[in-house]
Amino acid sequence: MRFSALRILKEGLTGNKGWTPHWRDPAPKPAYDVIVIGGGGHGLATAFYLAQEHGLTNVAVLEKGYIGGGNVGRNTTIVRANYNMPGNSEFYSHSLKLWEGLEESLNYNVMHSQRGVLNLFHSDGQRDYAARRANSMINQGDDAILLDREGVRKMVPYLDFENVRFPIYGALYHPRGGTARHDAVAWGYARGADMRGVDIIQNCEVTGIDIDNGRVTGVQTTRGAIKAKKVGIVVAGRSSQVAAMAGMRLPIESHVLQAFVTEGLKPCIDQVITFGMGHFYISQSDKGGLVFGGDLDMYASYAARGNLPLVEHVMEAGMTLMPMIGKAKVLRSWGGIMDMSPDGSPIIDKTHIQGLYLDCGWCYGGFKAVPGSGNCFAHLVAQDRPHPAAARFRLDRFRTGVGLMDEEGTGSQHNLH
Ligand SMILES: Cc1cc2nc3c(=O)[nH]c(=O)nc-3n(C[C@H](O)[C@H](O)[C@H](O)COP(=O)(O)OP(=O)(O)OC[C@H]3O[C@@H](n4cnc5c(N)ncnc54)[C@H](O)[C@@H]3O)c2cc1C
Repeated sequence: MRFSALRILKEGLTGNKGWTPHWRDPAPKPAYDVIVIGGGGHGLATAFYLAQEHGLTNVAVLEKGYIGGGNVGRNTTIVRANYNMPGNSEFYSHSLKLWEGLEESLNYNVMHSQRGVLNLFHSDGQRDYAARRANSMINQGDDAILLDREGVRKMVPYLDFENVRFPIYGALYHPRGGTARHDAVAWGYARGADMRGVDIIQNCEVTGIDIDNGRVTGVQTTRGAIKAKKVGIVVAGRSSQVAAMAGMRLPIESHVLQAFVTEGLKPCIDQVITFGMGHFYISQSDKGGLVFGGDLDMYASYAARGNLPLVEHVMEAGMTLMPMIGKAKVLRSWGGIMDMSPDGSPIIDKTHIQGLYLDCGWCYGGFKAVPGSGNCFAHLVAQDRPHPAAARFRLDRFRTGVGLMDEEGTGSQHNLH
């Protein structure tokens, strides 16, 4: 089933009776060439690119819940390529380029909207860092504009520019950054993978990883044992638990990140605005809700919900930046489980077990990485060598200390990234 303007018109005029399910509901086969554990954005994108770019279609994605129920359906949907460090810079640049052609390659409307991202700065030191970061972005071939206070005021006049503690000095503006509809990204990749022959198996939790003589041979699941030549672990906040099934201890801590949405309002925030000093960021969804969030809850947890001190902190930061927000009613809040790595950067690598691969450590920034991660992980799994854009995301950097990408400059504390 392909989507087109003509098809939508025809279905609209004939009672929408011709649509078919986006993906099948197959029972697990006894064996696959590749099993991808985790049907989040990264797992589904991996399966899609395995089929699309490498011709591997005897592939299953095993998801313990339902497609879109994890972080891929819980995030605040910001897509950008404004990283500073070598490694991250080229990877997110690669990912953004994939975003820009995604709707066409998936034949699916993921509502990718390049509305621009503004990173505010509030001191001379922060301005210097923004200028360095802008230069890295431009060197990478991406777009960056340094705005002074008046430039920012023209775009977002409703901010509190004269706040005594956080006066706005200017912003790093990234016009190609923006947002996308998060669950549509999961559905689009699921549909694209299914169309190419991948089995997407929901309600199928992996409970064990079978290893024989240093080589992976399959997995144990709540729907029985399944054999596989290769297995990819792509389970975000559950990475440590699933890797432990293969006897591995990962340098990952799982932390809660919360987000909030208000009632629908008329369009008032055109860009994505980030207020790093106050740990607050905001955009407006296409339905009109103001979507915002802040920092981690600062304790390790597997509970996909947050606590009240962080709610208070985020609301205070929002009121500091844009007092008008106090008039909006918050509809709901939720949490997701973040796979925090010590340097705030991801891991896409082989493991010491032959045929077992790992994709994790996305911290609170893995939605924008979905196309790039799927694309690079599929390359690694299919070809047994890293994709050039992800070659620095090695697991052994945490043992050797060589090649760390400490994007935030906060050292090795997971909860400070
Ligand atoms: C509140 C919030 C805001 C965020 N905002 C942004 C943002 O604005 N921009 C951005 O780039 N990133 C953002 N992120 C981060 C981003 O959502 C994540 O980094 C990314 O979604 C993680 O990858 P995923 O989609 O594959 O994860 P998930 O969707 O969590 O996928 C992992 C899947 O693995 C499954 N799984 C786990 N264990 C097993 C098992 N044993 N067997 C089978 N399946 C298993 C889970 O059920 C889950 O569906 C945010 C996250 C949160 C929570």
